Amino acid sequence: MAKTYDSNNIFAKILRGDIPCKKIYEDDTVLAFHDISPQAPSHILVLPKGAYVDMDDFTAKATDAEITGLFRALGNIARAAGLAEGGYRVISNIGVDGGQEVPHLHLHLVGGRKLGRMLQPAE
Ligand code: 5GP
Repeated sequence: MAKTYDSNNIFAKILRGDIPCKKIYEDDTVLAFHDISPQAPSHILVLPKGAYVDMDDFTAKATDAEITGLFRALGNIARAAGLAEGGYRVISNIGVDGGQEVPHLHLHLVGGRKLGRMLQPAE
């Protein structure tokens, strides 16, 4: 089922410059900034500038250049942040079961400590 993009979501507002962020990286197709509520010493959000709801939407509709741009940027940002050697985790929450809160695709890049188990036991 096609997903409708809500252009009033908080990351759309950040992309428009309506609200501020602590920017780490920007190019033609990607913006990265610090998460407002970091879950690890390093918690960076990496997002495409295009209006994609989530990874499902992105992988169905984005151009090859957008897909390449997002993943190249992700790796470059992780290396520049000093995370590549010790390791890090990339998370993208999708939809209700994925626990997504902001409906603009973003990759959480988290690291700087041992992150423990990937998933919590089911409630
Ligand atoms: P989700 O649950 O959608 O995968 O993650 C949304 C993330 O966005 C959360 O980690 C949350 O802390 C972060 N976040 C929500 N609002 C803002 C904001 O206004 N600025 C920044 N930098 N991060 C935000």
